Amino acid sequence: MPSQAYGFYSKGCLAGGRAIATDGEYWQAMRLSRNRRWGHPELIATVEQLSRDVAKYDGWPGLLVGDISQPRGGPMLTGHASHQVGLDADIWLTPMPNRRFSASEREAISAKSVLKSKSVVVDPKIWTDAHAGLIMRAASYPQVQRILVHPGIKKKLCDSWKGDRALLAKVRPYYGHHYHMHVRLRCPKGSANCKAQNAVPADQGCGKVLDWWFDVALKPKKPTKPSKPKKPTKPKKPRQMMLNDLPSACTGVLNAAGPASEASVTIGAAGIEQTVYARIAGNASPSSMPALIPIPTPRPTP
Ligand SMILES: [Zn+2]
Repeated sequence: MPSQAYGFYSKGCLAGGRAIATDGEYWQAMRLSRNRRWGHPELIATVEQLSRDVAKYDGWPGLLVGDISQPRGGPMLTGHASHQVGLDADIWLTPMPNRRFSASEREAISAKSVLKSKSVVVDPKIWTDAHAGLIMRAASYPQVQRILVHPGIKKKLCDSWKGDRALLAKVRPYYGHHYHMHVRLRCPKGSANCKAQNAVPADQGCGKVLDWWFDVALKPKKPTKPSKPKKPTKPKKPRQMMLNDLPSACTGVLNAAGPASEASVTIGAAGIEQTVYARIAGNASPSSMPALIPIPTPRPTP
C-alpha cells in the first residue's frame, strides 16, 4: 500500500511501512525478535540520517535503535501506548559500541540509564556532551515535532545547552525515558488521515513547567494515614482496544497482502505481535476481536 500513517500516535496504524535494516554503518537495531523495526519511510530516513549526523558532528559513535512500530503499526501487546502509526522511534541513550552485537546480545543487553541511581538527576559520570548532541541533533530536524526524555535530562539540557536554545521547546519531559529518547515525527505529507498532535509550546520549557515535574510529579508520595478499610470493590477489567477503535482504514491495512519480508524478519518465538496481527487479519469479523493492549489511564500530555 502507499505509505501512510492513519490515525493518532496512540490509536492508529501504518500502511506501506518500511523496516530499518538490522545494521547500518552507524546503527544497530536491537530486540530484533520483537519485529518492531517498521516505520513510515520518512521516519526510517530520519533515523538513518541521525545516525550519520551524530557520528560526524556530535561525537556519538552510532545509534542503538529500539522499538519503532510493528509492520502495520497498531497497538502492541506490551510496552507502548503510542508507536502505532510508524512515526515514533526509541533511540537508546547508550552509544553504539565499536563492534557488532550478535542477535542474542541484541535481545539480552540493556540500555543504561543516564540518571544517578535512585535519583531524578543526570549522573555526571555517565552524561557526556555527546548525549546532549544526540538529543539536540534530533531536535534540529524540522520533521521532528517532539522528543520525550526524562525530566532530569531536560533539566540538564536547560542548564547546559549552548546551541540553539529555541530547539529546547521540542524536548519534552516525561516519565521514564532515561534509558532511551523517544523521537516523534509530525504527520508526513501524503498522510491526510494522520491526526496531528498539538504543537509544542513555544517557550523552552525550562522554568516553572519543568519544576512541576520535580516538585510534584516525581516527588515520592508521603505515606498517608491508614484510613478506614474500604468495602471491597470488584476489580475493573481494563478496557481493551478494539480494531474498531482505530480509524476504519486500518481494517484495510490489516487485510492487505503483505511482502514476504514482513514475516521473515520475525525471529524466534517472540514474534507474537505478528501472529496476533495475522490472526486478526484472518478473522471474519475483525472488529469484534479483542484488543492487544489495555487502554492506558490518562497522564499529562507530553
Ligand atoms: Zn517510545
